[in-house]
Amino acid sequence: MFNNALFPDEMSISQCATCRLCCSDIPTCIIDYHTLHFLALKSKNANFEKLLNEIVLYRIKPEFLNSAAYLWQHYFKYNLLEMITIPNDVGDFLIAAIPKTRGKCPFLSEIGCILRENKPLNCKLFPYIQFQGRISISPVCPLQKKSISEITLNKLDEILEEYTQTAIHHSLDYYELLKRMNSKFNWRIINYKSL
Ligand code: SF4
Ligand code: SF4
Repeated sequence: MFNNALFPDEMSISQCATCRLCCSDIPTCIIDYHTLHFLALKSKNANFEKLLNEIVLYRIKPEFLNSAAYLWQHYFKYNLLEMITIPNDVGDFLIAAIPKTRGKCPFLSEIGCILRENKPLNCKLFPYIQFQGRISISPVCPLQKKSISEITLNKLDEILEEYTQTAIHHSLDYYELLKRMNSKFNWRIINYKSL
């Protein structure tokens, strides 16, 4: 049984202006197990059903998995994409995502993110991102020049560790749940091509 009490905390940044710039003009946000599980629970709710049609499915050849993980902020000391799911019959990895958009994220409401503690990992870690192997504050965030404390770095490590263990534990569940959800929503499939 998946424990929704996991990942209760998000990375905070002092003086966050709650400008919501981080939820507009968003990059591809990978939907990992904890988000997929939440969406599956909500999929009978009419409001969520509409939003679920926005999701896309990436098909990634194993030789491109590292490149995809770098691009989507899922390469830390290891490739997290490799742990989220298992390859299909022909060796490809199928991973769901909220697609990159120039407008606001479909899951952003008047009162904030409707996925709340079940939001994707990237959103949970934001505004902290990896750039050239180092943790920095995203240039999207107006607070990008702030320094990052040791406490913040330790908390990032803790969230990632907890997250990774959960991903590994549920990789088969992810694969099965994705298949079930896709048979209902018939998500648009995008073949990932390395840059
Ligand atoms: S962009 Fe930065 S300041 Fe604005 S809401 Fe996101 S984290 Fe907060
Ligand atoms: S999933 Fe939530 S936190 Fe992430 S971009 Fe969308 S609204 Fe923002």
